[in-house]
Amino acid sequence: MKPLGPIPHGFSAMDGILQIGYHPVTALVAAAGATPLFVYSRQMVVARIAALRAAMPAGIDIHYAVKANPYEPLLRVMSEYVDGFDIASAGELAIVRAAGIDPGRVSFAGPGKRDDELTAALTAGVTINLESEAEAERALGIATEIDVTPRLAIRVNPDFELKGSGMKMGGGAKPFGIDAERVPALIRRLIAAGAAWRGLHIFAGSQALSADAIIEAQGHTLDLAARLTRESGAALPRLNLGGGFGIPYFPGDEPLDLAAVGAALAARLVALPAELAGTQLCLELGRFLVGEAGVYLTRIIDRKASHGEVFLITDGGLHHQLAASGNFGTVVRRNYPVAIATRFGAPVEEEASVVGCLCTPLDRLADKAGFPRAEVGDLVAVFCAGAYGASASPAQFLGHGPAREMLV
Ligand SMILES: *Cc1c(COP(=O)(O)O)cnc(C)c1O
Repeated sequence: MKPLGPIPHGFSAMDGILQIGYHPVTALVAAAGATPLFVYSRQMVVARIAALRAAMPAGIDIHYAVKANPYEPLLRVMSEYVDGFDIASAGELAIVRAAGIDPGRVSFAGPGKRDDELTAALTAGVTINLESEAEAERALGIATEIDVTPRLAIRVNPDFELKGSGMKMGGGAKPFGIDAERVPALIRRLIAAGAAWRGLHIFAGSQALSADAIIEAQGHTLDLAARLTRESGAALPRLNLGGGFGIPYFPGDEPLDLAAVGAALAARLVALPAELAGTQLCLELGRFLVGEAGVYLTRIIDRKASHGEVFLITDGGLHHQLAASGNFGTVVRRNYPVAIATRFGAPVEEEASVVGCLCTPLDRLADKAGFPRAEVGDLVAVFCAGAYGASASPAQFLGHGPAREMLV
């Protein structure tokens, strides 16, 4: 039997039925009308943000990376609890505006911004995190054409990486950001061109569970920002420290020690380099805020045996929850936290694989794991589905269409 990932804290059961925010999943599915269904818990997101704020030094802004989960009702919740939003396209700009979020709280990062995206963002007053000198010139040109003062920041490709991160986004040759040594000259160029200088964005990686690695990267980030600011000769209004805070997905993963990260950052802030004395700091997080607050529910529609193995075949699959199938940035396939939601907490009785309804061997939500004996009609819960689920999966693949989503 292969182990399953750790089920996040905060879930309970009543009479063997998993509950999300005190609602039994059977009632949630009935209210939604059908499976597959993503359910996001407002209370868990709010509690996570509160825990983060309590652990971090006062005065650090929290930004939400919209790409982790752009579901509009969730964004409306986030807009009450976070300070800013980071978007990656004009499509996400339209989504945040539809959720009533003030574009003045929004920054726009991402390599390959089209002219029409830059125009929409500059018109709305969004801060652009510039990813190249060429993009800087395009943004300045468009701003002149449409007669706005562009709010411009620079995304730095740092000369270090976030160790142990699931996805490295800095260090060495990268399509993201501008190599650190070229940044001071570009800062001077932006200011000379009359732009509103908004600061630096330094994002070194994602999905790190090691507090030491995050502490080290934050230390390097502050040093680098101070050095670039000194060389540019201009005050730094804002420093986006990136994020990279991970969540446990797989067997053996331990939660990030948030208190250790907060204490180390507080210690750095009392001895901040003079260049950063007036700088507003922010963290930019996606999965850490919402990942564990989401559950993907799918129904078993067939149960079969083949060569001695049991397959629980569901009406969902990788077209909604690609990451759980191991096909989204993981090298070795390991099991996510998965449970039979209508026999929650029941003892393990058999080894089974939970598969989706797609005609591909890739479509496996749990591989040879231990479950109570499940029957057709039972609901399966895939946990850690609040980030990079619905919006990061190929919903059109094989034509089953997208899953339903619900905020409780
Ligand atoms: C994807 C991304 C994030 C969010 O990453 P998480 O691992 O979900 O926290 C934050 N900032 C940038 C620039 C990103 O590309």
